[in-house]
Amino acid sequence: MREDTAKKTTTEKTPSGDELKIEGSKIEELKIEGLKIKVYPDPVLKIPATPVERFDAKLSSFVDEMHKAMLLREGVGLAAPQVGVSKKIAIITYDGVFYVLINPRLLEREGEQEGEEGCLSFPGIYAPVKRPARVKVAAQDTGGIERVYEVEGFTARAFLHEMDHLEGKLFIEYLSTLKRGMIRKKMYKRAIGEDE
Ligand SMILES: [Zn+2]
Repeated sequence: MREDTAKKTTTEKTPSGDELKIEGSKIEELKIEGLKIKVYPDPVLKIPATPVERFDAKLSSFVDEMHKAMLLREGVGLAAPQVGVSKKIAIITYDGVFYVLINPRLLEREGEQEGEEGCLSFPGIYAPVKRPARVKVAAQDTGGIERVYEVEGFTARAFLHEMDHLEGKLFIEYLSTLKRGMIRKKMYKRAIGEDE
């Protein structure tokens, strides 16, 4: 998930305590290491992810790597299939709060909102998407403890966008056939190196 706003400097702590300073436009100069983001039409993005069963140190360090990969690209959300791991793990960071959703379940949805949405797997592409305004979600944390989140507005949008990824569903599926076709065509051209 990506938010279409002016670039800004942010500092965030990863779950393991590392501090990452992200300086807006300088992000392009950073050497991006670690997890690679899969972009559409990579087939892993269309596969429903499987539940996480082991809550161990390996899981925590993977979530840490996902967090770094997301921040380095100025994302506000990232799902494990986007880094090629078909497991029910998603992270969201918004308004200074970092959420880890493992095996999330949508409990309640209410209202409607429309807003611009982007995705790290569709670089530079934004489109308006209708979503529920408020949601209640149960998810486990990296220790396997179940937590319940009640979120609204952009945070709710980000939760739903990332939870869709875990079902192999992409935000372009909410768009008109015409708009979806245009985005698909652009992404396929990029994949074979014909775009721009
Ligand atoms: Zn996405």
